[in-house]
Amino acid sequence: MNAIELNNVTYTYQNGMVALQNITLKVPIGAKVALLGPNGAGKSTLLHHINGLKLPTSGSVSIMGEKLTKKNCAAIRQKVGLVFQDPDDQVISNTVLEDVAFGPRNLKMSEKTVQEVCSAALGSVGMLEHKDRAPYQLSYGQKKRVAIAGVLAMHPDIVILDEPMASLDPLGQDEIAGLLQGLYYMGKTIILSTHDVNFAASWADMVILLKGGELLAAGNTDLLVDET
Ligand code: ADP
Ligand code: ADP
Repeated sequence: MNAIELNNVTYTYQNGMVALQNITLKVPIGAKVALLGPNGAGKSTLLHHINGLKLPTSGSVSIMGEKLTKKNCAAIRQKVGLVFQDPDDQVISNTVLEDVAFGPRNLKMSEKTVQEVCSAALGSVGMLEHKDRAPYQLSYGQKKRVAIAGVLAMHPDIVILDEPMASLDPLGQDEIAGLLQGLYYMGKTIILSTHDVNFAASWADMVILLKGGELLAAGNTDLLVDET
């Protein structure tokens, strides 16, 4: 079984824009995947197919062996966490703890379990001491870490991050890189989009190169090595 499988996925927006063309790829469980490509390549569109926010116009997507359909895509979203590019789109509650608790409470966990799950998730991103603060009081990097905690609190098998390093200073980028390593040790399958080829080469064990909605290549990081 693979974590993610796309078979001949094509996606056309309502205005006729073909954002993905006939994409076929497999991501093994536990992989660290970097999705690279210029603006407009289709990266976000592809990521939205992996957590069932979008269903393909044609072709199919399977997550942990289960084919995504209109019926099961909401349930699949519990197995696949998406960290948005901009934490201000995601971290919107009055306090950090409330924000991280949102998903677990939706799952109707007992309040005791909610508190345990949230403490563990906030601890794993180094934000437990900030649990009672308001998100607007936090730095951008701290908000990003709260967004990641909110995803981890749902115990997903797969974590998707849309441009996790964007808009962070070098220290913030190092913190996120450390967190990504932690996710890897937890056994999560991680797929992130990035423009940073050097980061992709150093962190990923699989790279996917997209351009104009087409898959240029998918494989190990040797794809990124300049052979001149
Ligand atoms: P990336 O994340 O690589 O920048 P996107 O997946 O956001 O690429 O976009 C792929 C293509 O689809 C681009 O040409 C983009 O302009 C187009 N696109 C994205 N969202 C929409 C939409 N809602 N309606 C029409 N076209 C869209
Ligand atoms: P990203 O590359 O992270 O998806 P964008 O700035 O490309 O961010 O897109 C921001 C929003 O605008 C998204 O909701 C996307 O679906 C939408 N969008 C992008 N391109 C188009 C387009 N050509 N037509 C309509 N909506 C678009």
